[in-house]
Amino acid sequence: MDYDVIIVGAGPAGSVLAYLLAKRSLNVLLIEKETLPRYKPCGGGIPLKTLRSLPVDVSPVLELEARWGILSYSGRHMLRVPLKNFGWLAMRDRLDYFLAQEAVKAGAMLMDGQVVYRLEEEDGRMAVHTSKDTCYTRLVVGADGVNSKVAVCSGLLQNRETGTALEAEVEVSHAILEEYGSTVIFDFGALEQGYGWVFPKSDHLSVGVFCARSGSAGNMKRQLERFISQQPMLNNCRIITVQGHRIPLGGAFHPLHNGRVLLVGDAANLADAWIGEGIYHAVRSAHIAAEEIPSILESSPFDASRYTRRVHAEIVYELKAARRFAWLVYNYPWQCSVALTCSPKMQKIVFGNIRGDVSPRNMLGQLLITSPQILYEVLRNRKLASLQHMKTIEVR
Ligand SMILES: Cc1cc2nc3c(=O)[nH]c(=O)nc-3n(C[C@H](O)[C@H](O)[C@H](O)COP(=O)(O)OP(=O)(O)OC[C@H]3O[C@@H](n4cnc5c(N)ncnc54)[C@H](O)[C@@H]3O)c2cc1C
Repeated sequence: MDYDVIIVGAGPAGSVLAYLLAKRSLNVLLIEKETLPRYKPCGGGIPLKTLRSLPVDVSPVLELEARWGILSYSGRHMLRVPLKNFGWLAMRDRLDYFLAQEAVKAGAMLMDGQVVYRLEEEDGRMAVHTSKDTCYTRLVVGADGVNSKVAVCSGLLQNRETGTALEAEVEVSHAILEEYGSTVIFDFGALEQGYGWVFPKSDHLSVGVFCARSGSAGNMKRQLERFISQQPMLNNCRIITVQGHRIPLGGAFHPLHNGRVLLVGDAANLADAWIGEGIYHAVRSAHIAAEEIPSILESSPFDASRYTRRVHAEIVYELKAARRFAWLVYNYPWQCSVALTCSPKMQKIVFGNIRGDVSPRNMLGQLLITSPQILYEVLRNRKLASLQHMKTIEVR
C-alpha cells in the first residue's frame, strides 16, 4: 500500500487537505484513530472567515446562524448586538464527518478506527504503522491535533505552548432555547486569563471556559461550574457531557517540517490565543500545504522548508498579534469589557476580527490609531457600563 501522501487525523485540517490533494489527483490516505463520526469537544463556532476558507459548502451540517451577540462580565450582560453574516454554529461530529466524506468523494482513501503509533523512514519513503496495518508514503502530514503523535515521532514541536478548554453540552428548557437559541455569549470576567462562552445548537447549548494557560482538570471544572452558576439562563440546565482538551497557543516560530513529515492545524500549534479558535487556521494551513506538496514531492533533495516559511509568514505572524491582544484582554478584562461595551468603534474592530474582516495585526494597528476616539466614546457612554445587574442593552 503505497501513497503519495498519508494524512494522520481526520479533523478539519486533515480532511480539507485530503480533499484538496485528491482534487489535484494525488494518491492520498487519511487515517483517523476514532470511528467516524466522533464527538469532539468544541464550541463549533464557525465565523464567516472560516466558512469562506472551506473548499466545500458545509451548509447541510450547520446547526444555525448566530443572530445576536452578548458581551457579559461575570454573568452581567453588558452589551447585546445584532449580528448578520457573522458566524454559524456546528456540532463537530457532523461537520468533521461531512468534510471527511467530501475528501472520500474527491478520491481520498479513508481508514478510520486506526491509531497511528509509529513512523519510520525506509529507503526514501515513510512507513506509517497503525494499530491494524503498515502503509507507505512519500510524505506524512500530521493533522492529528494538539497531542500530535506525528509531531512526537518526528521530533517537532517538543515544547508547545497550550491553553486549556472545558466544555459542557447542556439541556435547557424550550423557553430558554427560544430566547437564547441564536445568541452567542462571551464573558471575559468568567475566569482569570480566559473567558467563558455559551454557543447555541439546534436542541441544546454548548457552554465552555477557555484559559490561555495550561490549567488542571480540577480547576477548570470549578471554573466551568462557576461560569454556569453565574449565567441566569443556565440556572436549571441539565449537563449532558463535560469534556476538556488542550488548545494550542499559536504565535511562536517553530519548524513545522522535518524530513518527510510536516504538520498542519492544531498539530502545528496554530490556534488563536485570544479567542481559542483553531478551525480557521487549521483550514488555512491545509490550503498552504496543498499548494506546496506537489512541488515538495518533486524536490530533490526532499525539501519541505517552503511550507514552514509560508505558514510562518501567512499565519504565525498574525497569531503573534492575536497573542498580544490576548495579553491585553486577559490582564485587563474589566477595562476591555467596558471599552467594548461603550465604544462602537472598538466593537467594529473587534467583531470585525472575529468575523474575519480585520486580521489580528490590523486589529492591533486600528485599535492603536483610533484609541483617542475609543477613549472619547468610553467617556461619553460610560453609563452603559456602570449599571449594576444591567439589563440587556441593545446597540444598533
Ligand atoms: C472546548 C473547545 C472549544 C473550541 N471551540 C472552537 C470554536 O468554537 N471555533 C474554532 O474555530 N475552534 C474551536 N476550538 C479549537 C478547535 O477545536 C481546533 O483548533 C480544531 O479542531 C483543530 O483542527 P485539527 O484538524 O487541526 O485537529 P483536530 O480537530 O483535533 O483533529 C485531529 C484528529 O486527529 C485524530 N488523531 C489524533 N491522534 C491520532 C493518531 N495517533 N492516529 C490517528 N488519528 C489521530 C483525532 O481523533 C482527531 O480526529 C475549540 C477547542 C476546544 C478544546
